[in-house]
Amino acid sequence: MPFTLHGLAVSQGIAIGHVHLVSHALLEVNHYHLAPRHLPAERERLDAAVAEVRGELDELRVASGQNPAHSEVGAFVDVHLMFLDDPMLVDAARTLIDERRCNAEWALVQQMELLVEQFDQIEDAYLRERKADVIQVVERLVKVLLGQPGRLPRKRKESLGTIVVAHDLSPADTLGFRDHDVAGFVTDVGGPTSHTAIVARSQGIPAVVALHNVRQLVEDNELMIIDGTRGVVIIDPDERILEEYRLRKTELELERSKLQRLISARPTTLDGEEVSLLANIELPKDAVLARKVESDGVGLFRTEFLFLNRHALPDEDEQFEAYRAALKNMGGAPVTIRTLDVGADKALEAVGKRSTEANPALGLRAIRYSLAEPKIFKTQLRALLRASHYGKLKILLPMLAHAHEMDQALSLIALAKEQLRERKQKFDPKVEVGGMIEVPAAAMALGMFVRRLQFLSIGTNDLIQYTLAIDRTDEAVAHLYDPLHPAVLKLIGGTIQVGARYGLPVSVCGEMAGDPAFTRLLLGMGLRLFSMQPNQLLGIKQEVLRADVGELAPKVQRILKMDEQERVHEAVERLRV
Ligand code: PEP
Ligand code: MG
Repeated sequence: MPFTLHGLAVSQGIAIGHVHLVSHALLEVNHYHLAPRHLPAERERLDAAVAEVRGELDELRVASGQNPAHSEVGAFVDVHLMFLDDPMLVDAARTLIDERRCNAEWALVQQMELLVEQFDQIEDAYLRERKADVIQVVERLVKVLLGQPGRLPRKRKESLGTIVVAHDLSPADTLGFRDHDVAGFVTDVGGPTSHTAIVARSQGIPAVVALHNVRQLVEDNELMIIDGTRGVVIIDPDERILEEYRLRKTELELERSKLQRLISARPTTLDGEEVSLLANIELPKDAVLARKVESDGVGLFRTEFLFLNRHALPDEDEQFEAYRAALKNMGGAPVTIRTLDVGADKALEAVGKRSTEANPALGLRAIRYSLAEPKIFKTQLRALLRASHYGKLKILLPMLAHAHEMDQALSLIALAKEQLRERKQKFDPKVEVGGMIEVPAAAMALGMFVRRLQFLSIGTNDLIQYTLAIDRTDEAVAHLYDPLHPAVLKLIGGTIQVGARYGLPVSVCGEMAGDPAFTRLLLGMGLRLFSMQPNQLLGIKQEVLRADVGELAPKVQRILKMDEQERVHEAVERLRV
């Protein structure tokens, strides 16, 4: 019997495929007590799981040894094998089975929690970081005990893809979908501008989030349709529904292909205003997509994706190569590279999650993290500066709020330049440094930014989150996430105006820039630099080509004076007719 679920549409398009359930093993561990006569069998279950995980790790070890590019994998396998053999983990869990008569999964998780607590107390940062490895080893063991395959299936033989169904996914998980045949994904939780959703859009993977209990309602291999435009998910569709969605999918693809004819048109408005359309990228290879749609450059390279999904941080040379590759892939166009923005929904696995953080979006994130970890920051700055010798590279600092953050970051850049001079390594001495305006405090105190920086970029995703005090990843408050709230518009409009007054380029690189519903509004505010996912660029270009800024500007000035949300919504809607 087909049935339908409604959630939040976060990444457009239609996907039709077979369900692949992915679980967060540690969240789903059952706790139960065993009768004494069952204890020996439970210990054997644990031993069998340990043997299976050891087999998996040995296999990985051999595979990584055969490929020099994967030497780093070999190193983490060694660490995992070491923990697997450590009496503090498996032996202790075995004792817990006997003493507390608990099931093997529960015993492992209890022991893991104890070890994690001990790791948190360690002063040495390297050793403290190994906590993440313990968690991963336990996760592997629990998955085997629960009988769940941990990995995504490789490409299927039939033409339908895989639809990943999970309680939650991290941005790093989603990035891994690139290498698999994932047609779309749906999750129980999540918000429209969470990084998981952004990565899905950048890969063109249809996705619906905030479905509450989809994981409980579907089974592995069931047929599923995702309508990522309307936020609808259909499970077990009949032939008639399937046919309708196949048709809609073809229509969408046709619409997309029609936009291709705009590729070489310059984005100029009807009254001759020149606009620059830039691309947001997560990895250097995305620059290839950015170039394919003839973007004017990269407006935002989110470098944190080079740091996620791995057990050791990328060193200076690796980062330098990645930044240089992005410049090369852009063929001489400018590339704005943002320094590490980790924290909140992008936890650095290699460093371990800070368990004390109650409110990560307001915690040690982005520039705050970089300034707290100057060694990591300086390494990145040197890599960026070295790459600046090979093209038009600009450095962008995320989540600034205070003058001293800029001052410290600028001194560290000066220091990094000094170190490169000593090493006789080349860099562009005039490399531009800009800042993200994504905290209301920054948008309301622009003078200190204008005096210190050479360009600004408005991160509307965070600016909305922080202005309206709603967690962008929390579906319970997703309905309050309103880009057209009068307070948000005043901050965006004000920043664009101040930039124009002082001759400082201002771009928007948050999701608003890639949504055609807002293009005319932003143009009317005076915005001329838009940065978005490459696959949104042609749709925005179409809007620009149809807009008349002379006509829009006075209407938008009136909108900026409105203080009733509903009136703003209606007026913005009218800009498009
Ligand atoms: C933003 O906040 O709008 C932005 C572009 O940065 P991110 O989405 O990576 O936080
Ligand atoms: Mg941001």
